[in-house]
Amino acid sequence: MSAKLIDGKGIGNQLRKDLAQDVAKLKEKTGIVPGLAVLLVGEDPASHTYVRMKEKACAKAGIYSEVHRLPAETSEEDVLGWVDKFNKDSKIHGILVQLPLPDHIDENKVIEAIDPAKDVDGFHPINAGRLFIGEDSYLPCTPYGIMKLLEVEGVDLKGKQAVVVGRSNIVGKPVALLLLRQHATVTICHSRTADLGAVTRTADVLVVAVGRPEFVTGDMIKPGAVVIDVGVNRVDDKLVGDVEFEGAEKVAGSITPVPGGVGPMTITMLLRNTVEAAEKCQ
Ligand code: NDP
Repeated sequence: MSAKLIDGKGIGNQLRKDLAQDVAKLKEKTGIVPGLAVLLVGEDPASHTYVRMKEKACAKAGIYSEVHRLPAETSEEDVLGWVDKFNKDSKIHGILVQLPLPDHIDENKVIEAIDPAKDVDGFHPINAGRLFIGEDSYLPCTPYGIMKLLEVEGVDLKGKQAVVVGRSNIVGKPVALLLLRQHATVTICHSRTADLGAVTRTADVLVVAVGRPEFVTGDMIKPGAVVIDVGVNRVDDKLVGDVEFEGAEKVAGSITPVPGGVGPMTITMLLRNTVEAAEKCQ
């Protein structure tokens, strides 16, 4: 058996075309152009690549974006000053502080300084809390993108066993809450989970966000499962996921590739959140 590929790139592209139309309509009706401000501190090459991709995606969708690239030694006070400026700027509807920040800057303090109404990354405690209690909020972009992929693929989550490997605040925990919201029975695994394979083999839907190349192997997957590989790892100049693709695709029912699976959806949902923030300003 060979698993069906879940084409995040194709699905993302279609959604971005739809978004570009929404942006054009909003501009025509109200004169509002959605605006995203991005703050990038330091020289992390992966962060620079992600920000360039976000910038290009904004331009293509008709979203105004401004990227501020600051040196690694920028003080926390300066970063907070930029956030304050974006909070007050009426042409900016969404603020994104690219993580990770250099060690001398307190990430939580910076995230908490963002106006929750402009928190298009969905990391502010107010938005995280709203997600927790099931209220409308900006959803963090990667979990939101994963849920969109499952929706487009027609995966009915009700009553299904979903296993999430990884419990980070940006992927593991929020995606687990969203799967629960769709009535899956959810198990979260982490570095102290005993007999991980025994747990992952129960999964009808398996989401892997660990940050270790090819960590989940075919023998850890239930035949026919939907496998969502969030991992992005650079190995010998090649990108690989957290799932060992060759082994997994022989067992899974469907699987996201890396690259071209979850990554493009993350950026797409950032655009979606920014447009939504602008629409709320009408
Ligand atoms: P974190 O490092 O924040 O979290 C990793 C999680 O994996 C932790 O909860 C950790 O457990 C768990 N873990 C580590 N080792 C094991 C193990 N041996 N067994 C079980 N669980 C383990 O990573 P992120 O959530 O931020 O990212 C995960 C991956 O997803 C990375 O490759 C990242 O690059 C990628 N990513 C991709 C995105 C995209 O758009 N495609 C967006 C965001 C991330 P513990 O808590 O116990 O330490």
